[in-house]
Amino acid sequence: MDRKVRVRFAPSPTGPLHIGGVRTALYNYLFARQNGGDMILRIEDTDSNRFVPGAEDYINESLAWLGIGIDEGVREGGAYGPYRQSERRDIYRVHVRRLLDEGKAYYAFDTPEALKAAREADPNFIYDANTRMKMENSLTLPADEVRRRIDAGEQYTVRFLIEPGREVKVRDRIRGEVTVNSSILDDKVLYKSADDLPTYHLANIVDDHLMEVTHVIRGEEWLPSAPLHVLLYEALGWADTMPEFVHLPLLLKPVGNGKLSKRDGDKLGFPVFPLEWHDPKSGEVSSGYRERGYLPQAVVNFLALLGWNPGDDSELMTMQELIDKFSFDHCSKSGAKFDFKKGIWFNHEYLKETPDDQLAALFMPELEKRGIEGFTPEYTARALGMVKGRANLIGDLWEQADFFFEAPAEYNPKDVKKRWSADTPRIMGELVGVLEGIDDMTSANAEKVVLGWIEANGYHLGNVMNAFRLAVVGACRGPHMFDITELMPKDEVIGRIRAAVERIGATEG
Ligand code: GLU
Repeated sequence: MDRKVRVRFAPSPTGPLHIGGVRTALYNYLFARQNGGDMILRIEDTDSNRFVPGAEDYINESLAWLGIGIDEGVREGGAYGPYRQSERRDIYRVHVRRLLDEGKAYYAFDTPEALKAAREADPNFIYDANTRMKMENSLTLPADEVRRRIDAGEQYTVRFLIEPGREVKVRDRIRGEVTVNSSILDDKVLYKSADDLPTYHLANIVDDHLMEVTHVIRGEEWLPSAPLHVLLYEALGWADTMPEFVHLPLLLKPVGNGKLSKRDGDKLGFPVFPLEWHDPKSGEVSSGYRERGYLPQAVVNFLALLGWNPGDDSELMTMQELIDKFSFDHCSKSGAKFDFKKGIWFNHEYLKETPDDQLAALFMPELEKRGIEGFTPEYTARALGMVKGRANLIGDLWEQADFFFEAPAEYNPKDVKKRWSADTPRIMGELVGVLEGIDDMTSANAEKVVLGWIEANGYHLGNVMNAFRLAVVGACRGPHMFDITELMPKDEVIGRIRAAVERIGATEG
């Protein structure tokens, strides 16, 4: 019987969500949407030592910003809740009990010191069929002693009894079949009495089963845990409905070998987190794609192609196109180099296509940061529309459009040298008169009048126009001059010409 596709993104709230985790969430989402399935967000917070306040909110906010929709989760609710593992203790207890009763797991009382001593005596020590009978556990202690210790409140763990010498087969959608001999596995801790919580492994399997998850799509770093997970499904009697495993390729450093790390980002100047993160303990701030001026659609498009390709050479794809085209058949086994420059290219492409009014809204914080106010959204939108093709990140828009919002503080010395001569103040004075006489400042009309005046007087077109630009923009850059003067109030344009005549004239003589 075909089951409804149900996938889950299952982060542990131990800090900011890494960009690799975002890609995992995205692939889960694309697969769920493509198959009309459900996307679950499960918070795996069973490790109280690694819990970081604010991390769960950060995860929610990141996914929302990127448009990765969640159908069931802590915020969304759903029929399979609770979706935070720390709220599911009662559920896990039942299954730990069952494994103990069926002799598939056992109590262990070894103290951290005893385990450390065992590891010191033998660096290859693992808790398994060869060593378990030498340790302090319910396999070696009499039953009444075990009972007595538990009743006395002694701390214990419950370990999974792994039968050695078995061939464990993991079927992975991307890697094919991987076989591992159970003798290399250790008797993993499944539960700790100290916090009355299971460990990741048990909680993860129990929840995937109870939440009717059909595909476990996660990073390759979890592949080594998969054989243990297969054995757990069997031990719990759920082998028939075991989800399909899909282990995604690693994200690799942009240069050199190995896994992408935060340090690569710091060194080369790109974020490895979706949103800015303020570490609650150290106060350290790590940069995020959102705050750096990336558009969420660009980040999604860029990430989608790290480890997957559409089978043709399309690059720019909307979320819907990604949903339609996504396929595990085109996911690679080998790691994907994190080409952050490609990410910047994607952002450039998306920025260019963003409607001007939306850009204006995204640009507001840039204006606020500089204490600039008094411009209508329409003015801002038209200004940005003229320069958006020249920017990569939202922040770059300021460098391109600054003169629309503030008069030049200085004039580019090279341009002054090249374009401003002794005669220029006089010609600029005439230009002021010409502009004052124009009622219709639309680009085409102003251009016609001004060029007519230049021609009639035999002036040098390039020099006059560049001096004009220098006065208004502060340098010989920017969009078409008459588009600028169509948007800017005429008295502002004239004021800037007069100011330039005064200031440059005084310094250059
Ligand atoms: N809680 C694990 C993590 O932090 C989940 C791994 C999995 O998807 O099974 O990534």
